[in-house]
Parts: sequence; structure tokens; C-alpha cells
Amino acid sequence: MKAAVMEAFGAPLKIDTHWPDPECGPRDAVIELEACGICRSDYTIWNGGMEWVGVVPTLPCVMGHEYCGTVVEVGREVHGFQRGDRVVAPFCQGCGTCEFCRSGHQNVCASLQLPSMHFSGGYAGLTKVANADVNLVPLPESIPSEAAAGLGCRFMTAYHGIVDQAAVRPGEWVAVFACGGVGLAAVNIASALGAHVIAVSRSDEKLALARKLGASHTVTAGPDAPAEVVEITGGGAHVSVDALGAAETALPALFSLRTRGRHLRLGVSNKKDQGQISIPVDLIAFRELSLIGSFGMQAARYPEMLRMVESGKLAPREMVGDTVRLEQAGDVLASMTGYETVAMSVITTF
Ligand SMILES: [Zn+2]
Ligand SMILES: [Zn+2]
Repeated sequence: MKAAVMEAFGAPLKIDTHWPDPECGPRDAVIELEACGICRSDYTIWNGGMEWVGVVPTLPCVMGHEYCGTVVEVGREVHGFQRGDRVVAPFCQGCGTCEFCRSGHQNVCASLQLPSMHFSGGYAGLTKVANADVNLVPLPESIPSEAAAGLGCRFMTAYHGIVDQAAVRPGEWVAVFACGGVGLAAVNIASALGAHVIAVSRSDEKLALARKLGASHTVTAGPDAPAEVVEITGGGAHVSVDALGAAETALPALFSLRTRGRHLRLGVSNKKDQGQISIPVDLIAFRELSLIGSFGMQAARYPEMLRMVESGKLAPREMVGDTVRLEQAGDVLASMTGYETVAMSVITTF
């Protein structure tokens, strides 16, 4: 099959028309790609991965983990899906049998399967989904493929974080720090739930998009941002979201909280922080703040989110900047160096 292959970290991706097709194990499905988003996590992997949590792929590899497509092959032990089904899948694919999968938390499976780490991802004509009965989700025809691409990573990550982990309630103040893909999705989802959302970003363009997606207030990132959030909310946000994962967003997000507020970590750390950030622990104790982690989302939680997309309450299509050909994926990654990209690029021609 045709694939955009990473042969060396940081090097241009190489188009290989003879990359091996995915092997379909007895419990797997092979998907023909309709669309695949280009995620900041791919950029991080392209830059050498996240060795501090063991996420470094073996090269050469094919990235791409937020995609949708059509099933073209299923293993003999797959019962719930067949050839021709239009599907989406989470990037974090569970085994279905470990302690965490059996309690419904397949997104934090003890033996997670991740595209680009464990098998070829979606920067290709085909990819596979491990343990298809556990991880595939039927995709309604009414949701266009560019919109569905982001449902495999940024959008579902934000949904799980806002709805399941931080349990945002109507009327609460939610401050979202950083308005990349996952941040904008968090803005959209929290507003759809009836929360009052403040978006914080350095970029006026991203703040304008955040308003379009439901933010009632916007604040320019900088040293005064926490004080502005505290003032707007009359005492601090009930929930603050770090949608970037760096110290520059985590700390102001913590300082923006109201007493007993919840801090949600949606972003992944970077090379500079290496997964370690100093945080104000006494403030956390004295004001009874909560720190909440969130990772991906399990397939079983998708139908509720898809219904909200179908009804128009959630607007993942608004977050798509441009659609590109597979050959352009490497250039898009290279353009992500300065966090200047607004909205996401989606590969729609393979
Ligand atoms: Zn498992
Ligand atoms: Zn991603």
C-alpha cells in the first residue's frame, strides 16, 4: 500500500508505494482510510517521541492515529463488524480482557495498542484496529469524514476529560488554557454542556475560533491571565483545563481555580519539561484543589458523543483548517514547530 513513512526522527516523511499492508490478526480489522488528522502528538513523535513515558516508535514507522474509514477485512474471531462498515476508532486500543478493560476503562488498558507504536497508523491507504470488537465504533453516514477524523484523538480526548473525568456541570466556569485542537474541542464540549467557558490563548485567531465554538469570554495568555480569569468568574474557575501540557499552561491554569476547583490535564508534556512540572502543592492542600488526569476515551463512550455531533451540539468540522494529500503530511508536521497553526489539517487523499 501507499504510506508516508518516517525513516528518521525530524526528517521529511517518505512516500513508499510498497509499504506492507496491515496484517489482520484473528481479533483485528483492517480499515481503508477516508480521512486522517495530523495531530500535535504526531509532531511530538516525529521529534523523537516521549521517552519519559516510553512512547518512542521503532523506525521506520507510519504515524497517524485520528482517522475514520471503511472496514475491508475482519479477523475470524470478530463478530460485531463486517466488510463495508463505516467506522472510527480511538487511538488507545484496549485488549478487552485485562482488569481495566473488564471494568470498562479500555482507554487505560494494561496492554494498550497504539497506532505508530504497535502497528502502522493512518498516514497510509490502510491501517488496522486491534481487538476490533472492543475498539471499533460505527460511524453514522451523516458525519462527514473530515469531521470524524478528529474524533479518534483530540475531540474524544476532550470529551472524556470534560464529561467523564472533570464531570463539568451546567453553569460552572471552565477556563481552557491553550486553544490547539484539544483545547478548542474542550471549549466546544464544555459550552455544549451548559458551562460558561473562558478560552485562554496567545493567538487572537485561535480566540476568535474559540468564541465561534462557544467560549463566552476570551483572555490573552500572559502573566495576568490567572487574575483575569479570577475576576471574570468572581473568584476563580470551577474547572481549569491544561490543553497543552506544558508548565506555561499548567501553572496559570492552577492559579485560575476557585477554592475546591478541579484541574484537568488534557495535554501531553514536551521535550523541555520531560513530563515533570513543579506545582504549588500547598495551594492544592489549603484550597482543596483536585488534579485530574485524562487519557483518550474508550469506544463504549463514543455513541453519546456521536449523537451530540449529529444533533449539531458539537461541531468538530469547525476545527478542520484544510484538507491535504498524503504527500503533504510531512510538510504539515514541519509547519507545527511554532504552535502557529490554527485548527487541524486532515489528510483526505491517500
Ligand atoms: Zn486491556
Ligand atoms: Zn492525537
